[in-house]
Amino acid sequence: MEVFIEPIGRLINEFSKLPGVGKKTAQRYAYRIVRMPEDEASAFAEAILNAKKKVRYCKICGNYSVADVCDVCATRDKSVICVVKEPKDVVAFEKLHEFKGVYHVLHGVLSPMEGIGPNDIRIKELLARLDGVKEVIMATNPDVEGQATAMYIAKLIKPLEIKVTRLANGVPIGSELEYADEVTLSRALSERKEL
Ligand SMILES: [Zn+2]
Repeated sequence: MEVFIEPIGRLINEFSKLPGVGKKTAQRYAYRIVRMPEDEASAFAEAILNAKKKVRYCKICGNYSVADVCDVCATRDKSVICVVKEPKDVVAFEKLHEFKGVYHVLHGVLSPMEGIGPNDIRIKELLARLDGVKEVIMATNPDVEGQATAMYIAKLIKPLEIKVTRLANGVPIGSELEYADEVTLSRALSERKEL
């Protein structure tokens, strides 16, 4: 006999799919849902479907967006592009309220070990939007793959007479941008170095 009745077991199974959620936490979440008033549970379920239905990628920068073109691409200085690995890195920069340019989300970094090459991440999309661009800031993570990706892209862009910069050191090596504290990230951005 199963330990959990079917609907609860199923809920636990779904919650376990979330990052950082183990069996115990999943069980706590499932019980919480079961205890919720029905309208609260509906709102919860509806929010999941709503996000799935409405969130897409901005066709310019590749960040999450509700419209075809995101608010950042629609309203900000397009002459400076900050290149990041993932959508969550954009959030790290936006929290600083300092950067006035636009972003380019690569959706990955080069990784020969994992067989991820230049055609597997959004490099050609970046090259296609360089008209009128004065500076490209490489803000991939300061780990081996992030550095290699920054160097690779810098080599492609520099011959086009566009300034390519890299976040200054200060974000601890091997750490993820997302976890850099705001003061450190802000300094790394303002003291960026030309590549
Ligand atoms: Zn965009």
